[in-house]
Amino acid sequence: MKITNPATGEVLAEREMDTAESVRARYQELRKGANTWREWPLRERVGCIEKFSQLLREGEKELTQTLTAEVGKPIKQSLGELQGARGRIEYFVEQAERWLCTRQVNNDGQTEEMLVFEPLGVVANISAWNYPYLVGVNVIVPALIAGNAILYKPSEYATLTGLYIQQLLHDAGVPKDVFVAVVGDGRVGQYLTDLPLDGYFFTGSVTTGRKIATAVAAKLVPVGLELGGKDPLYVTDDVSDVTGAADSCVDGCFYNNGQSCCAVERVYVHEKVYKPFLEAFVAKVKTLKVGDPTAETTEQGPVTRPQQIQFLQEHVEDAVKKGAQIVLGGKPHATLQNAFEPTVLVSVDHSMQVMREETFGPVVGIQRVRDDDEAVELMNDTDYGLTAAVYCSNQERAQNILRRLDVGTAYVNCCDRVSPHLPWSGQRDSGLGATLSYLGILAFVHPKGYHLRA
Ligand code: NAP
Repeated sequence: MKITNPATGEVLAEREMDTAESVRARYQELRKGANTWREWPLRERVGCIEKFSQLLREGEKELTQTLTAEVGKPIKQSLGELQGARGRIEYFVEQAERWLCTRQVNNDGQTEEMLVFEPLGVVANISAWNYPYLVGVNVIVPALIAGNAILYKPSEYATLTGLYIQQLLHDAGVPKDVFVAVVGDGRVGQYLTDLPLDGYFFTGSVTTGRKIATAVAAKLVPVGLELGGKDPLYVTDDVSDVTGAADSCVDGCFYNNGQSCCAVERVYVHEKVYKPFLEAFVAKVKTLKVGDPTAETTEQGPVTRPQQIQFLQEHVEDAVKKGAQIVLGGKPHATLQNAFEPTVLVSVDHSMQVMREETFGPVVGIQRVRDDDEAVELMNDTDYGLTAAVYCSNQERAQNILRRLDVGTAYVNCCDRVSPHLPWSGQRDSGLGATLSYLGILAFVHPKGYHLRA
């Protein structure tokens, strides 16, 4: 399998793809490893994860360069991702004992009732390429801390980063038969679903999520799905700072080239502030530095998958055919390979793909609305339910709007934000279950109740 730099077309490395047989052999090793790992004291498992975090920091330069080379992420954002991943690890390290410890929950004098958490066993983590460290850490770290062994399939577009994660975990003391990365494309992911694993934790598109959920349904094991989004943002007429809201919204739309599950992809603006908001938004987008992702100042580079350019073009063409106007961009970048111009569309409506399907690129539609009711109706007019944001100086009004939306994460005066303290989850097609927070620790254990009498 060739691993290619999307910015240059250069082949960075070649790796042999795993086969059904090699994946099965790795699984059998993991079965043995899981039996030992679960007996390790919790603090020793946590110790390995602390060491892993330290190695991530020490290897920062090489790791960020590799991430940027294989996915095209601007180098500054690659560094931000690594640092963000370490922040999440810190949360899990601090919270592990509190949530996983055995506890007495009742004693009526005759019977002592104890709650114990046991690992699931050997679990699969099938992962996306857009934030391999962040989405990787969400599953790998709490699952290992909780005593599970992991069969990990990074995306083929983030293979080198996935192999680094494996190497650093092993260097940090996680046994080789407790964490195994396999190499390959979607077919290798399918080999994982053929195995009798004890849990499946997936980050990726709705289409693949459905395939995985269907493939493993009869196994009756826990399944976690972190899927796509078409996240809306609404700017009310009493927003306190229109320019500040526009700047924040631009960041939410274009960070990581719009290739974030929680990227803002639809913007609704109250008609009273539409004009100043649009002016400020466009002015900010014009300042985005598009170019070589290895340059410190670059804010937008190539998209990761070359085939995405055609998809973005189709979204723009479909919108224009149905009456949208291009205010900025609208086509592939003239000189930068596999890059798409930051694109702003207005006069959009919900007949257009760009307002309904996940675009996953630097393209956003901005729609004028009359009032909160119209905004809510449009924000809810979607199959997705990952995040939604409202910019408004009145907390009560903002939270009333957010209460009416079926989303896993709701923002007031901010967007595109993830905290390890809060669950990361999607409603509707955006997913099942949660990662992060204490719920994202307990996702990787079975609760077991003991009724103990003398
Ligand atoms: P994807 O195409 O669905 O792939 C995700 C993973 O599944 C990859 O490792 C892929 O392998 C593998 N895969 C593909 N087909 C498979 C199959 N039939 N059986 C088992 N595994 C299979 O998604 P992506 O393009 O990597 O990621 C982008 C999507 O992820 C977007 O929709 C984004 O919104 C979503 N996402 C969601 C979150 C969240 O937290 N909710 C976070 C990040 C991304 P290959 O890549 O090697 O083909």
